[in-house]
Amino acid sequence: MFDRGLTVLKIRGIPIRLHITLLIFLPYVAYVAASQFSLIASSLEIPREAMRLPPLAWGGILAVGLFVAVLAHELAHSFVALRNGVKVRSITLMMLGGVSLMDRDDPEHEAWMAFAGPLMSFGIALGSYGAYRVLALFPAPAEVGVALLAFAITNAIIGVFNLLPAFPMDGGRVLRGLLLRRIGPVRATRVATSVGKTMAVVFGLFGLLSWNFILVLIAVFVYMGASAEQARSSTRELLRGVPVARFMTDRLGDAYADESPRAVAERLLRNNLVGARVIDEPVGGGARREIGVVTVWDLARQLGRGAAPETVGAVMPVDVPRARADDDASRSIDALASGEASAVAVLDGGEHVIGLVTAAEIQRALALAGALGELRTPGAGG
Ligand SMILES: [Zn+2]
Repeated sequence: MFDRGLTVLKIRGIPIRLHITLLIFLPYVAYVAASQFSLIASSLEIPREAMRLPPLAWGGILAVGLFVAVLAHELAHSFVALRNGVKVRSITLMMLGGVSLMDRDDPEHEAWMAFAGPLMSFGIALGSYGAYRVLALFPAPAEVGVALLAFAITNAIIGVFNLLPAFPMDGGRVLRGLLLRRIGPVRATRVATSVGKTMAVVFGLFGLLSWNFILVLIAVFVYMGASAEQARSSTRELLRGVPVARFMTDRLGDAYADESPRAVAERLLRNNLVGARVIDEPVGGGARREIGVVTVWDLARQLGRGAAPETVGAVMPVDVPRARADDDASRSIDALASGEASAVAVLDGGEHVIGLVTAAEIQRALALAGALGELRTPGAGG
């Protein structure tokens, strides 16, 4: 359960998850926030004796507050996405902040969606600075003012940092959105990800020279994110205009919803199949119907956990991305790249699953196409 984080609540249908790394990171943030708190207190000439709570306690409060602020930042991204009709799969709070997992938006909308997060951080910064100024008019404890000021400064820094044009950070997405209309999606992505990689190298060097471990981690994260998007973009371009059925495998079997995952896994392995349609046949008759698909990866992940559910119906992922046989294959890349789904189910005219598109199938086809030089050869369907 912890590989994807523990779901703690849902906001407008979006599961909010806490990642295990947050637990390790929270004390560190509290420590940094405590020293920032002390720094601000001494620059405002507030003596230690005037405080009721030690700086470390304020550091803890600020750290928790910061993760709530990061959640608000991510929710701002998500609400704009929802308004554009984009499905938001989850928000995960982890070590370096928040990650919103959403289906790919039309890149035209992406700039505004990316800008909404930093805007929220600036809003929070402004709000807590305002509260600090108002509080100063009343005989309130000075330490509350210090905490508000620290909170305002940190949120402003989060806003500014996220606006640096280092793709996949928010500023990089804004940059791509702005370039899009002028130079098209492929070149816009190339420019934004190249700037991202360059900035990652700068962050990394600066982090190493200043012994800033967090900055080095961010550099690695940005570099890998930019490279992955570059690869995805060129794959998307290769697949554009090719029907998804060209990449699907029809090595599918059938499984009953109440079968044990182990029995189904053994059958798939024996028959060299990639997945199974899950069929529900009510006891005492009734219509037999397909209720979904399960892949070997879904089964392997659940069985590897030890305490796997007892039936395939319970193992079966609930929202497998779907496509029609003649849909554009480039769209399936995004569904697979999100990491949530192990396959895209390809349907016939109705609700019958005729095949699966997996990352492995796409890689196999691309390797051949690369060697032969062309994907869009007419004729070779299926
Ligand atoms: Zn953001």
